[in-house]
Amino acid sequence: KPAIVLFRHDLRIRDNRALLAAAGSGKPVIPIFLSDETNEDSRPIGGARKWWLHHSLKALGASLEKLGGRLILRRGNTAAIVDEVLDDTGADAVLWNRRYDRPGVAIDTALKAGLSSRGIAAESFEGHLLHEPYALKTGSGGYYRVYSPFWRALNAQPEPRDPLAAPRELLAWPHPVTTDSLDDWALLPHEPDWANGFFRDWTPGEEGAHERLADFLDGSIDRYVAKRNRPDMEATSRLSPHLAHGEITPFQIWHALRAPEGLDHRSGAEKFRAEVGWREFSWHLLFHNPKLHSENFKPAFDNFAWAGDAGGQFTAWKRGLTGYPIVDAGMRQLWQTGWMHNRVRMVVASFLIKHLLVDWREGEAWFWDTLVDADPANNSASWQWVAGSGADAAPYFRIFNPVLQGEKFDPKGDYVRKFVPELKTLPAKFVHQPWNAPEAVLREANVSLGETYPWPIVDHQASRRRALDAYSAAMR
Ligand code: FAD
Repeated sequence: KPAIVLFRHDLRIRDNRALLAAAGSGKPVIPIFLSDETNEDSRPIGGARKWWLHHSLKALGASLEKLGGRLILRRGNTAAIVDEVLDDTGADAVLWNRRYDRPGVAIDTALKAGLSSRGIAAESFEGHLLHEPYALKTGSGGYYRVYSPFWRALNAQPEPRDPLAAPRELLAWPHPVTTDSLDDWALLPHEPDWANGFFRDWTPGEEGAHERLADFLDGSIDRYVAKRNRPDMEATSRLSPHLAHGEITPFQIWHALRAPEGLDHRSGAEKFRAEVGWREFSWHLLFHNPKLHSENFKPAFDNFAWAGDAGGQFTAWKRGLTGYPIVDAGMRQLWQTGWMHNRVRMVVASFLIKHLLVDWREGEAWFWDTLVDADPANNSASWQWVAGSGADAAPYFRIFNPVLQGEKFDPKGDYVRKFVPELKTLPAKFVHQPWNAPEAVLREANVSLGETYPWPIVDHQASRRRALDAYSAAMR
């Protein structure tokens, strides 16, 4: 009798405990990618992730085929689909890797109960996180709300296990199993094809993930401590979309940093591990606060007087037309590549929330739709962090000055020039504040404010004061 292995956010064959256990059981294996958005709390994935998913599924299908298996694609209610496949094939075991978002947990818990009542073996495994969120507890039995003690506690745990190899082969199930066609799922954009440039930056799939890690360990990790805040440089790993789709695991990353011939002596390794720790922290927060993307972690923020899309300012932000070059470069990088540098994510989020007083949930939703790494935990926790409404959040009175941020982290303006070509020939001195350039300099650079590039849509000092007033009113 065959065993069914469910794939959801773990699109890999290496370090995949569910797949390895099924292969090791000696049974024929039926691998199914199952997309279930039927739970009342399910949040459909956004457009950029759909693009990634399409290509990642193709890569996973090819890897499974090399092992002798065939990936089945299904969409809909998990319990109903699994029941149907059990009936059709006589399978007597279902295996999967665990999830930690509320709808995922609800679906899998119900599935396990249903299978047990039918006498079918149901087994779930870890892999997405280094430590199970329900197991890591504070001294008083709660969960960590502050990152530093969380990180200390996590480091005091036994060393994470070694990553596992891919199964050597899968025993194929010789009979047909109903599958959808990937093309029928229509995950790719058509008119317009806004993702046509994504391949320049990304190779979705497990191979792409490991190449990215190897490149990072080979080069940028040396720059990580000093330059990881510089959007004009390649100094971070860009592993986020691969992690979000489970093409690589934190165990594999941990091990690569610790391997005997590895790179632990480099200070970059420690810092990098700590950033992967923020991902763990965010997932623990989400597990304990399943509405992290829709509810303020700090209820005091429920009274906040958001301004809404006053005068189309939210739209200008989405399009990268705010008149603040670093903000516009970030928003256009997001649109063109499906990704944005972390420093710039903080700047654009702060600008939306504090300069424009737009509810952080609106920004979170735009990122959700446009990021290839859109992650239920990291995205919500980070937006709440910037807003000040989150656990261990940035203090609300920290309001980034977009000009100073640009000058500090993109000193020559190369990042702005790349994504805001209208300002390409403006001298570095004015590239982050074109409105202060003398008329002759603007003319020389072919910049006409209000025509080729917008005037700033808000005044920095006035918006700063307005934000501080709104925050103190809400906190009262
Ligand atoms: P690296 O610096 O190489 O870090 C390695 C890995 O550590 C990342 O891939 C990521 O998994 C994790 N990581 C790094 N920084 C953070 C962080 N601050 N919080 C949580 N995990 C982190 N990250 C996402 O993966 N998905 C999101 O949807 C997301 N939304 C964000 C929204 C806002 C407003 C902000 C400020 C940050 C957001 N981040 C998100 C966190 C961070 O910006 C990205 O993880 C990072 O830029 C990814 O690039 P990298 O892989 O090169 O990072």
